[in-house]
Amino acid sequence: MNIAENLRLINYNISKALERSGRRDSVKLIAVSKTVPVDLILKAYTAGQKVFGENRVQEWKQKVNELPEDCEWHIIGRLQTNKVKYLNNRVALIHSLDRFNLLEKLNEEGEKRGLVWKTLLQVNVAQDEAKAGVGTEEVEDFLTTAKDYPFVSIIGLMTIGKLDAGPEETRLYFRGLRELRDKILKKGICDFQTFHHLSMGMSQDYELAVEEGATLVRIGSSIFGERHYN
Ligand SMILES: *Cc1c(COP(=O)(O)O)cnc(C)c1O
Repeated sequence: MNIAENLRLINYNISKALERSGRRDSVKLIAVSKTVPVDLILKAYTAGQKVFGENRVQEWKQKVNELPEDCEWHIIGRLQTNKVKYLNNRVALIHSLDRFNLLEKLNEEGEKRGLVWKTLLQVNVAQDEAKAGVGTEEVEDFLTTAKDYPFVSIIGLMTIGKLDAGPEETRLYFRGLRELRDKILKKGICDFQTFHHLSMGMSQDYELAVEEGATLVRIGSSIFGERHYN
């Protein structure tokens, strides 16, 4: 497994997918480093990858101190409210705002510390029982309510495809998330300046996601190999 080589291939595939879809904007690659030991993360860093995603707060806390300061960290996994207190301003973006009480908790903790969390609203487009996220039909209300929580800024939407879905089905979920964003913008519930990100696409389906408008892709195993357990 050559991490630098993997990164190069993925970046190439992303640029090709951007071209195919005629997009002129860019995509941020988030290297999902959950369960990956620090020495391997450093290999990615040395190859130029500075943006990483973790899904367990404790694991992230340990790693953040062992890795260079210019790493950008994203929290991508389900976030328990009792873990919010361990987060700090090293977190660039929380992808997994998926319920109201997490919004409340983040706001409370942000107010205490005088910082505004950047987040994405996780939407369960695929209506997958196994997945977190608000339902498509709840998104507008959630975003409207969230305006009363000044220490949480929702800058876009995130989704996870269904595990056993084929590419055609997965594409529809990704398209669904983009259309949802566009509807929200059109209705003026949010404006493009502050709200336009789409976090979608993982190792299996990131090219599809880029074709459908992803601005953030979250890729783990295609970079670091099958999950590491330590
Ligand atoms: C693990 C994980 C990923 C990366 O998955 P791969 O299939 O290894 O690319 C992306 N998003 C979330 C939310 C994850 O938990």
